[in-house]
Amino acid sequence: VVAGPSADERGAAGRRDLEIATVDGHADVFSKAIEEGLDYFVDAERFQASLPRLRRGGVVLQAASIFVPAAFAGEEALAFARRIVGAAEAACARPETGGLVRDAAGVRAAGAAPAGVPPRFFLAMEGASPLCGSATLLDEFVDRGLRMLGLTHNHDNECGDGCFAKAPQGLTAVGKDLARRAERAGVVLDAAHLNRPALAELLRAAQQPVVYSHGGSRRLCDVPRNLDDDAARAVAATGGVLAVDFFPGHIVPGGAPARLADVVAHLEHWAELLGVDAVAVGGDFDGITTVVSGLEDASTYPALWKAMAERGFTAEEIRKIAAGNWVRVLGAARASDSGSAAAR
Ligand SMILES: [Zn+2]
Repeated sequence: VVAGPSADERGAAGRRDLEIATVDGHADVFSKAIEEGLDYFVDAERFQASLPRLRRGGVVLQAASIFVPAAFAGEEALAFARRIVGAAEAACARPETGGLVRDAAGVRAAGAAPAGVPPRFFLAMEGASPLCGSATLLDEFVDRGLRMLGLTHNHDNECGDGCFAKAPQGLTAVGKDLARRAERAGVVLDAAHLNRPALAELLRAAQQPVVYSHGGSRRLCDVPRNLDDDAARAVAATGGVLAVDFFPGHIVPGGAPARLADVVAHLEHWAELLGVDAVAVGGDFDGITTVVSGLEDASTYPALWKAMAERGFTAEEIRKIAAGNWVRVLGAARASDSGSAAAR
C-alpha cells in the first residue's frame, strides 16, 4: 500500500486519486518557456505539465527536456540550451517544486515519495546539437545535472542520424565517443529519435541500459518515430525502459483522433512483448499541440492508471509502469555516484 492523501483530501479533491506516484520520462516545459517567452509559474495555465497539473496527476519526478529547435546549430544551439537549463535551475530553486535531481540517489529519493508531493525534475537532453561534438561541453551539462542524453532529434547532427535523416548512416565517431563518455558520467542514453542504423550502433556502443524515453509501437502505429518489435526487444534487452508518449500521431495511424484506450493499447502491447519491467511513460507534454482525448495534460495520469487496472494490470505492475521502472534505470548506482567530477 502506497501512502496517499487522507480520505478528507480525496473528498475535497473530487475525482482526484493520487495513490499512484508517477515518473514521466519526457516533457518540454522549460524548452517551451524559453521558446515562447513564458514563465512556468506566472503562465502556468499555458503548460500541459504545469506544477499544479503535475501534482494533481501524482507526478513525483518529471524529465525536463533540453530541446533546441532545428533552426539552431553550433553556438546558437549551445546558447539556447544554456538558457533552458538556467530556466530549469531557477524554477527548481523555488519551494513549490521538489528541486532538481542531479544524481541517481536523488532519483531513488524521488521515487520513494508518495504521489502529491511537490514534483522534482531532472535534465534530459533531446538531441545533442548544443554539445557541438565537444566532450568539454558534455561535462558542463553533466556538472549542471544532466541525467539522460539523446544524441539526435529527428534530423542529423554532429553525432549521427535522426529518424527523418535523408540518407541514414548511423552514428558518427563523435557520437559514439560522446555516448561512451556520457555513460561513464552516469548519464542514461536515450534512443527516442534515432533511426534504425543509429539505434543499432548505439546499442553496440552502450555498456549500460538504454532507454526510449517517448514514442510508440510501430505494430500499432507505423510511423518512422515509432519502434518495430525487433527494435523494441533490442532496447529492452539492455535492461532499459520504453516509454509511451501521448502524441496522437504516434498512437493511432492516419491522423485519426486518439483516445486514452489507444495509449493503453501501446502499453499493453509492450508489456506483452517485453514484460512489464520494460514499460514506462513519457507523455511529451508541452512538446505536443494535439492531445489524446482523456490524457490532455499531466493531471490526467490517474485516469490512465485506472484504465490499466480495468485491463487487468495488477497494482504492482501499474506501480512499475508508472514509476518503478524509470527509477530502476535512472536510479541505478554507478561509479559516478561517488559525486566527484573526477569519477568521470
Ligand atoms: Zn521528442
